[in-house]
Amino acid sequence: MNAPAPALGCTNTPVLKERGQREVFCGLTGIIWLHRKMQDAFFLVVGSRTCAHLLQSAAGVMIFAEPRFGTAILEEKDLAGLADAQTELDREVDRLLSRRPDIRQLFLVGSCPSEVIKLDLHRAAERMSVKHAPHVRVLNYSGSGIETTFTQGEDACLASMVPTLGSTVEKELLLVGALPDVVEDQAMGLLAALGITKVRCLPARRSADAFAIGPNTVFALMQPFLGDTHAALTRRGSRHIPAPFPFGAEGTTLWLQAIATEFGVDPDLFAKVTAAPRARAEKAIAASAQTLSGKSIFFFPDSQLEIPLARFLTRECGMTAIEVGTPFLHRDLLAPELALLAHGPTISEGQDVDKQLTRARAARADLTVCGLGLANPLEAEGMATKWAIELVFTPVHFYEQAGDLAALFARPLRRRALLAPLAPQIEAAE
Ligand code: SF4
Repeated sequence: MNAPAPALGCTNTPVLKERGQREVFCGLTGIIWLHRKMQDAFFLVVGSRTCAHLLQSAAGVMIFAEPRFGTAILEEKDLAGLADAQTELDREVDRLLSRRPDIRQLFLVGSCPSEVIKLDLHRAAERMSVKHAPHVRVLNYSGSGIETTFTQGEDACLASMVPTLGSTVEKELLLVGALPDVVEDQAMGLLAALGITKVRCLPARRSADAFAIGPNTVFALMQPFLGDTHAALTRRGSRHIPAPFPFGAEGTTLWLQAIATEFGVDPDLFAKVTAAPRARAEKAIAASAQTLSGKSIFFFPDSQLEIPLARFLTRECGMTAIEVGTPFLHRDLLAPELALLAHGPTISEGQDVDKQLTRARAARADLTVCGLGLANPLEAEGMATKWAIELVFTPVHFYEQAGDLAALFARPLRRRALLAPLAPQIEAAE
C-alpha cells in the first residue's frame, strides 16, 4: 500500500523565482551518457577548445575504443567571420563519415561559440542529411551553456529526434529518457510481466530500431527534465501518461500503476508482479533510511530531478526538505510529484546563487545537494554535500536501484559521522 498523499501538498505552494547568476554545467554534459546509450550515434560538438576540454575531462579519453563524440573546433578566423564555417564543417563531417562507416546517426551539437556567431546548424544538418542519406541521418541540437542547465542537453537531443519518427495508428507505449540498458531492461521486464509488450524506447539503442508514433501512442517519461520532448511528442498527437517518476518503491509503483491503468491491467496481476520487487526495494531503502530519517536536506537547482527526489527522500526515507530548488518547474510533468510532496519546503525555480548560498548557510541542512563548484566550499564550512551530477551518472530508477538511490544520500552523512571523532586531531595537525 502506498502512503496516502499529504492533506496539503506543494501543488499550490508559491514558487520563489530567481533569475540571477547560476552555477551549473552546460548541456554538452549529456553527451557523456547519450553516446553510451545510442550505439551507432556520433556527437560532433561545434565549439571551442573549452568545449573539447569539458567533454574530455568529464568523459575520460577512450584508448581502446573509437570515440563516439568529438569537437569541431571553431578557430579565431571562424569566430571573426573570416572563414566559411559551413564549408569547413562539411569537410570535417565528410572526413569523419568516410573514416567511420559504423556511424548511422550524427548529431551536430551547438555550443556557446557556435550560437554567438549564429552558425546555422539546422541548415547544416539538413544539407548533410540529404548528402549522406540513407546511410547516415544528421540532426542538430543545442548543448550550449546559454541554456540553463545540463540535463537540457538530453531533452534537446531527444526532441530533435521526434520529427524524424514515422507515423502509425498502432497503440504502443513509448518510454522516454536515456537510461542504462540494464535499467531499461528491468522496466521492460516489469511491463512484459504486466502483459504490456508493444513498448518502444526513445532513444532507441540503434538507429535500425527506429519506430513510428501517432495519435494512439501513449508515452511515459522516465526523467522529469524532458519538457521539450514532451511538447514535441504532444505536437505529433501522442498522449502523455502523467505519473510520479520511478524513483524509490513508491514512485516506481505509481509510475507502473499509471501505465497499468492506461492498458487495463488486472489489479490482481499488478499486485502479483510488483509485490516481490517492491518488497526488495523497501528493504534496501530501509537500510539507508536509518541514517537519513530525521535529517534535513537542501537542494540547489541542478539536475531537474530535485522535486521527485525530495518526494522520495521525505516520504520513503523520513527526511525533511528545507528548500527544493529546480532550474525549471515543468508543472505539467511535475503535478503528480508536487501533490505528493508535503507542504513545508521553499520551492524555488532558477537561481541567484549568492542569495541561495545565504539561505543554505542560514539553514545549515544536514545534507546539501549542489553542483561540484559549490560542494567543496560548503564542505570546508562544515556542511555535508552531495554532488547533483552523480544522480544522472548512477543507475537510480526503478525497484532494483531504489536502495542505491537512498544510499547515495546516506553515504555523505555516514562519512561525516565516521570522521567527526577525528576532527580535533585533523584541526590540530593543520
Ligand atoms: S558550450 Fe559553452 S558552457 Fe559549455 S563548454 Fe562550451 S563554451 Fe563552455
